[in-house]
Amino acid sequence: MKYNMCRPVNKYLDTFISDEDMAMIETIAKFVEKEVFPKRLDLEGGWHRDEKLAEGTLDDLYAKLVALGYQKLGVPKDYGGMGISTALRLALNEELARGDSGLSVHAGKAHAVLGPFVATGNVKKAREYADKLLSNDCYTAALMISEPQGSVNIEDPAQKGRTIRTKAERRGNEYVLNGHKIWGGPAGPAEIFQREKLKGHLGYSLVATTDPSAGDEGIAVFHVPADSPGLSFSNYIKTMGMCFTDRNCEMWLENVRIPEELRTGGVEIMRSRMTTGRLGCAARCVGVAQAGFEIALDFMKDREIDGKPVRERSLFAAQLGEIASEIEACRAHYLYVASMLDNPKKYGPRWSEAMIARASAARLMAGRMVLSTLKKVMEFMGAYGYSFEYQIEKYYRDIIILQQGFGGPQRDALDAIRSYYTFDWR
Ligand SMILES: Cc1cc2nc3c(=O)[nH]c(=O)nc-3n(C[C@H](O)[C@H](O)[C@H](O)COP(=O)(O)OP(=O)(O)OC[C@H]3O[C@@H](n4cnc5c(N)ncnc54)[C@H](O)[C@@H]3O)c2cc1C
Repeated sequence: MKYNMCRPVNKYLDTFISDEDMAMIETIAKFVEKEVFPKRLDLEGGWHRDEKLAEGTLDDLYAKLVALGYQKLGVPKDYGGMGISTALRLALNEELARGDSGLSVHAGKAHAVLGPFVATGNVKKAREYADKLLSNDCYTAALMISEPQGSVNIEDPAQKGRTIRTKAERRGNEYVLNGHKIWGGPAGPAEIFQREKLKGHLGYSLVATTDPSAGDEGIAVFHVPADSPGLSFSNYIKTMGMCFTDRNCEMWLENVRIPEELRTGGVEIMRSRMTTGRLGCAARCVGVAQAGFEIALDFMKDREIDGKPVRERSLFAAQLGEIASEIEACRAHYLYVASMLDNPKKYGPRWSEAMIARASAARLMAGRMVLSTLKKVMEFMGAYGYSFEYQIEKYYRDIIILQQGFGGPQRDALDAIRSYYTFDWR
């Protein structure tokens, strides 16, 4: 690490991060330097978007992370895992995103299906999935909230699930699901996720409605196994960033039969996703801003204006100082919200209005900060900042969806204010 202030021990306050946690952060930070930086352009198959190169690079990097124990970290202690704190989980998200935000998102996917089983006390199923995550095999999974008619209206708590169109009808001791999802990823036929370095897809944690007129009571979350009869998929949707790490698809459900034990809760699980999802995005925004900042520090050391390094000119030094301050403020913000999240008795459960508000506020600020940071870094670097080789452009393309997913900045702002007074569209 070239800059002392950029070392993990100087970034994460020990109020939030123990010495043992710091050792894990250091391990991932080293992994990023050694393994991710040299490969990150390959994660989207290079300039020509070579799909095989992208897939191979992603599988290889994820397998190395699994070998380091990354997949085990989020499994709760009761199920044999490490049960890490939210602050540590987010700091790891940040460090991985410093390498590549798409990889950071991908590395968290496998846990999408375990949390709801744990939260709803389905011990048998939680153990089954925890055991997979604790093995040395690599897995992935996905979250399916979004629908083509507008995802933010689904993520909007004021709309109480009225706009969800994927229906779940109870028949005896099972549910029959019909509907159309989009964007959740990685998605696709189950067999394409059985590869040399990927054991399989653990399924979809999917939001549906049992009755759109029932308000929050109608919101239901299901575990949909990846090989369920009745699922079909579009080809991958081509996107501006995270081109191959997210593998977004359309997904159709036609009379998909789900046993009742795979109903993994309702509105509380759905709202918890907003809190943890947005907070995860906040941490990743900070990691990407940190990466851009360090690229700028290096570049501006070697580039000169009238015989002196650019970063030693006060006009530019002051702007770098502003960037550093904003990154530190956004990091402190997400870490303190993470600590509140781990103290639900005092600050409210993760699905509460207060916790959604705090996480949304952290993401709102971090999303603005990372975009303004990368824009300034591009300005400082001139044409080099705009070029493929210097990688700022990839960070820029990838990060946009971390600001827009789980509802976007307008939703963040509205959810931040909803904890102060009731706000409804009607
Ligand atoms: C790379 C990528 C990965 C993704 N991964 C996933 C995933 O894993 N799972 C998943 O379920 N989805 C995923 N998404 C979808 C993503 O979460 C949604 O695209 C996002 O929430 C915005 O929804 P929308 O595109 O339907 O836009 P819309 O809902 O049409 O919203 C567009 C804009 O309109 C405004 N708006 C609309 N309604 C409201 C409202 N009620 N309150 C405030 N503002 C509003 C906002 O400004 C909003 O940004 C992914 C998308 C991409 C591109």
